[in-house]
Amino acid sequence: TLTDPAISTTTGAVLDGPALWSAQAHMPSVLGRQLVIERGEGSYLTTADGQRLFDGTAGLWHANIGHSHPELARAAHEQMLRLETYHVFGRYANDQALELGERLAALAPMERAKVILNSGGSDAIDVACKLARRHWQREGRGSKQIILSREHAYHGLHAYGTSIAGLDFNREGYGTESLVPETARVSADDIAQVEQTIARLGADSIAAIVAEPIQGTGGVNPPADGYLEGLQRLAREHDILLILDEVITGFGRTGEMFAAQRYGIEPDMVTFAKGVTSGYAPLGGVLVAHRLWEPFYVDSPDTPVFRHGATYAGHATAAAVALANLDVLERDGLVPRVRELEQVLRAQLDGLQQRQEAVVDVRVAGFLGGVSLDERLVNERVADRAVELGFITRPLRGNTLQLSPPFIVSDQEVVNYVAAIEQAIAEES
Ligand code: PLP
Repeated sequence: TLTDPAISTTTGAVLDGPALWSAQAHMPSVLGRQLVIERGEGSYLTTADGQRLFDGTAGLWHANIGHSHPELARAAHEQMLRLETYHVFGRYANDQALELGERLAALAPMERAKVILNSGGSDAIDVACKLARRHWQREGRGSKQIILSREHAYHGLHAYGTSIAGLDFNREGYGTESLVPETARVSADDIAQVEQTIARLGADSIAAIVAEPIQGTGGVNPPADGYLEGLQRLAREHDILLILDEVITGFGRTGEMFAAQRYGIEPDMVTFAKGVTSGYAPLGGVLVAHRLWEPFYVDSPDTPVFRHGATYAGHATAAAVALANLDVLERDGLVPRVRELEQVLRAQLDGLQQRQEAVVDVRVAGFLGGVSLDERLVNERVADRAVELGFITRPLRGNTLQLSPPFIVSDQEVVNYVAAIEQAIAEES
């Protein structure tokens, strides 16, 4: 699991604590040692106890422009005074959602994209998987239902995300292999094995494959050489839709607006969330390629409806915040800056690996780093030690530590961050 069972004791007593039930948490290990964040400023946080922390993970890879940015606060405030939101069901829309749609379509890694908005990454995955199945039903190829995903994948925790999880512990405990029928896993790095899985299942039964360009929660795993290109080739050969989950990589984390652009891939759908607002408002969505949306736009009484929507889809305040976030990203040159930060992080992590025997692998793609430790160390303990030193890192699968600071940090702050992680590793070794 991702929690350290050694932290809780074995009394068997039922513990209690705050009413808030934490997410993805072994509760007895959390109680009494919660890190309560009260303030944020740029790349730094302050806890309720007054400790100052460097946010080396940008929260859950979302705070890309840093915390408490006044321009985003103002955008939210002004929008709420004008109109908090109005829904986008049927003939209704709001100006902010429309403007954000145009802005995102222009940035999308596909021609003439349409944009479906909702509240986050898990939502976006549900929408993309539903639309994939809806597409093949409408095409009269209703047997194409299976959603393929990769080993070690994380796509959020709604019904589809849970069902297509490649981290098995996220799928277990519900009584069936998958909450949603018709899912299967493929190799995360060997394209020949992906091809074999497609052959075994039969392309006529497969609707789509979902892939993070760089796996995040699975351990910061950049794609193997040729893997994403191979997925695209297989998808086209077999009429399988390619859904890139860019919830982490979207909006600059790889030095391009989307990782699809960095790796030269043209997907059928892109899911996004986090970086679209840098976390200032809950917003996610799906970019949809022309050939998927066109049949839903034909001027005919027979044209089908894509029956999906939610009250907060296209929330006006969230959209206003996203527009302000995109302004900051563009005006401050933060996406090109990520390319420089990638070099700084790579140099620092290479040095770390050379100096520390316990570091067995380091991976960097964009401003996204993973440090894998050997079995003598427990990543949770190293992460806890780093927090004591004032630096947040996060334990991930494969005894890995996550490094993904906001894009606004200086070179020196990257150096200091890796030095702190090195100290934590050395002290725990
Ligand atoms: N997809 C990926 C690749 C993610 O990393 C995440 C969240 O970490 C999600 C989907 C789910 O997004 P959310 O937590 O906004 O529902």
